[in-house]
Amino acid sequence: RLYNELIELRGNIRVFCRCRPLSSDEISRGCSSVVEVDPSQEMDLQFAPTEKERKTFKFDHVFGPADDQEAVFAESLPVVRSVMDGFNVCIFAYGQTGTGKTFTMEGVPENRGVNYRALEELFRISEERSSSVSYSFGVSILEVYNEKIRDLLDDNSEQTSKRLDIKQSADGAQEVPGLVEAPISTIDGVWEKLKAGARNRSVGSTSVNELSSRSHSLVRVTVTSEHLVTGERSRSHMWLVDLAGSERLAKTEVEGERLKEAKFINKSLSALGDVIAALASKNAHIPYRNSKLTHLLQSSLGGDCKTLMFVQISPSSTDSGETLCSLNFASRVR
Ligand code: ADP
Ligand code: MG
Repeated sequence: RLYNELIELRGNIRVFCRCRPLSSDEISRGCSSVVEVDPSQEMDLQFAPTEKERKTFKFDHVFGPADDQEAVFAESLPVVRSVMDGFNVCIFAYGQTGTGKTFTMEGVPENRGVNYRALEELFRISEERSSSVSYSFGVSILEVYNEKIRDLLDDNSEQTSKRLDIKQSADGAQEVPGLVEAPISTIDGVWEKLKAGARNRSVGSTSVNELSSRSHSLVRVTVTSEHLVTGERSRSHMWLVDLAGSERLAKTEVEGERLKEAKFINKSLSALGDVIAALASKNAHIPYRNSKLTHLLQSSLGGDCKTLMFVQISPSSTDSGETLCSLNFASRVR
């Protein structure tokens, strides 16, 4: 239980902030940076939309534009590893569209993110412990859109419109009956599954990027272990969640389908904030049932489960309103 002890020292909920670099487009438009990160103060983020309104926000760790995928993953390692000791884990990326949620979680092929690196680490630990523990792994990929759950590994989910729902199993855990769980044993196998999930995600949508900013994308890794000597078995989940964009709706878009989506996103992100804030302040009542997202993750949020939240922000002066909203969200959950 070594990895767990490492985390115990600092509690079960960690909030990291990651600020992406200014994009070349922002630079050419003359946008300036309103965010300052000092590498010697790794828990502090300075937000200065104007010189008069300078404010410091505290996090468990702050990553600036110069911090790469490897540095981000290195800080996430204790949380990732704890799933191998039987703990449930949730890792979230929260923030406005365009701030790097998908970059942090999925990454790009030449610069992989947390999802791929985490799976690599799980396979590495499994190999390292193979003389005493037998591990097996499965992966499920799903999406929550307008409070509906869709199975992205079910190739027929579009045609049959199979309704997925959350049920409580005999041991009190939340389950999704019928959800496809693909066995995986190599990192290449995982990559194949993630690609298949992404393909199914785009079905029926005009633009993948458009849709992906309005739905929550979830990868669930199931780790099953059996100790070869004691016979002790355990089963745990690691959820890797790329949340829908947190941006508020423009005043011009206040009707139709877009308004409905925005209300669902707002409701589920607030519900997630409420649950994590209630856990952080050790409230007796945790309001899991207020959204599909928090209900789905109920067994992996709270108790001795580990939670890691990346709050992604833009450095650009043009985004400072949304950045402040995200920083305030982060302050609530920490
Ligand atoms: P989101 O998923 O939050 O909408 P993306 O992950 O798609 O945002 O990122 C938007 C753009 O910014 C992408 O082109 C991505 O490659 C780039 N980007 C995001 N974060 C970083 C970073 N830390 N370093 C370099 N490029 C980044
Ligand atoms: Mg994205």
